[in-house]
Amino acid sequence: MKTRMLWVLFTAFLLFVLYAWITTSHFGSFGIYYLRLAGNFFAVVGFVFIFMQFLLSSRIKLLEEGFGLDKMLHSHRYFGRIGLSFIFLHGFLIIIFQLVQSGNIITNFSLWVGIIALIGFSITAFLAVFYKKLGIAYELWKNIHLVNYILFPFVLIHVFNSASPGTLLYYLWITLAALFALIILYRLYRIYFIRSHPYEVVEVKQEANDIWSLYFTGRRLSYKPGQFMMVQLLRDGQRSSSHPFTISSSPTQKQISITPKELGDFTSTIKETKVGDKAFIDAPYGVFSFLNYDIDELVFIAGGIGITPFMSMLRYMGERQLQKKVTLFWGNQGESNLCFQDELKMLQEKMDSFSLIPVMSRQKDWPGEQGRINGQLIQKYLPELSGKDFFVCGPPVMSDAVMAELNKLGVSPSRIHREVFEF
Ligand SMILES: Cc1cc2nc3c(=O)[nH]c(=O)nc-3n(C[C@H](O)[C@H](O)[C@H](O)COP(=O)(O)OP(=O)(O)OC[C@H]3O[C@@H](n4cnc5c(N)ncnc54)[C@H](O)[C@@H]3O)c2cc1C
Repeated sequence: MKTRMLWVLFTAFLLFVLYAWITTSHFGSFGIYYLRLAGNFFAVVGFVFIFMQFLLSSRIKLLEEGFGLDKMLHSHRYFGRIGLSFIFLHGFLIIIFQLVQSGNIITNFSLWVGIIALIGFSITAFLAVFYKKLGIAYELWKNIHLVNYILFPFVLIHVFNSASPGTLLYYLWITLAALFALIILYRLYRIYFIRSHPYEVVEVKQEANDIWSLYFTGRRLSYKPGQFMMVQLLRDGQRSSSHPFTISSSPTQKQISITPKELGDFTSTIKETKVGDKAFIDAPYGVFSFLNYDIDELVFIAGGIGITPFMSMLRYMGERQLQKKVTLFWGNQGESNLCFQDELKMLQEKMDSFSLIPVMSRQKDWPGEQGRINGQLIQKYLPELSGKDFFVCGPPVMSDAVMAELNKLGVSPSRIHREVFEF
């Protein structure tokens, strides 16, 4: 489903929720009752945004194909902040209303349940924003975040207690509760399916000092070059946490591969993987592929290990003999970081219209381009930018810097496609 279509559907859904709230509210109230009315409005919209959290992180294929998992997870963050702000406003207004009306804040069970959910959501949201600063490991934070699945039924109890049976809003809450149950079932089914179809490691290949490719065989996977997958390795009976990696192989190849660079706890253990080890693979995800656009002139800009989706796309173009004009700028600190050297050379020989420009930021004796990939460098090789689409991939800092340069060059945002190696 296309992104615009999904936004239209979401806006229509929000308007429907507002309509349901209007039909259920008593606007004839006066004075202090307007506080309750406003409080209920924030509750209704806040509840919908909180529900959207589960939808956006559900990895449902239909949604993912329109947005891309990374964008869905980014929206998940923003929607979470909006939802929580609305729920706080709801709580604040209702507490004032209760105080003025009866002098008592907690008057019933439903309020308690709502307060517990609000405190729980606030803690998980706080950890989501500050886990890095607090020194909490990604996996621990992610597991704590799953508590939200337990908290949402608390919210449901709260809203059902406050809604009048038979109203449009009541039926809406029933629908969202049913959808929430379906999302849980879908996620459980995915886990079951993935665990019952494990892949096998058939090759572990060193690509550079700290870069390794793992090749897998198993269930046939239909993917586009540039997409990524979630991988869990099963080594010596131990299941690792699930990590995202671009599929560095091309769909035209028999085996699928990933190429992780050593960075932290998990990626530093990739080299210990043995042939015969198993892997649980959840794929494909993402929309970062030239195949999604009808274009002939492509500019690839990679930072370090951000080369992997371009490797997949170039391998695909080479195999399929596609006559696209491709310019690849590839930033690295020094030549010891380079991987896929021989294959890139072969691809250059095979594809007349493919040029590779390696750029080294820290190697003073590098005979080629030095420094960072910036607007000046891009224009040196591509004086004419119109008619070209730009694909940018790498770590967040590099990617942000390149986006700013393209912006300065006046490249239209609709012609820039981006994959960031961090959710
Ligand atoms: C779409 C996508 C494609 C990627 N493709 C590649 C690739 O082809 N090659 C490559 O080397 N790297 C790739 N990465 C990055 C890779 O996923 C991280 O480097 C790896 O997960 C880090 O794990 P760690 O335990 O070694 O490092 P840590 O030091 O534990 O984590 C470093 C950072 O990686 C992220 N991270 C850690 N664990 C996870 C997790 N389980 N799920 C999601 N993010 C996590 C967090 O932002 C964390 O701050 C990709 C990332 C994304 C989002």
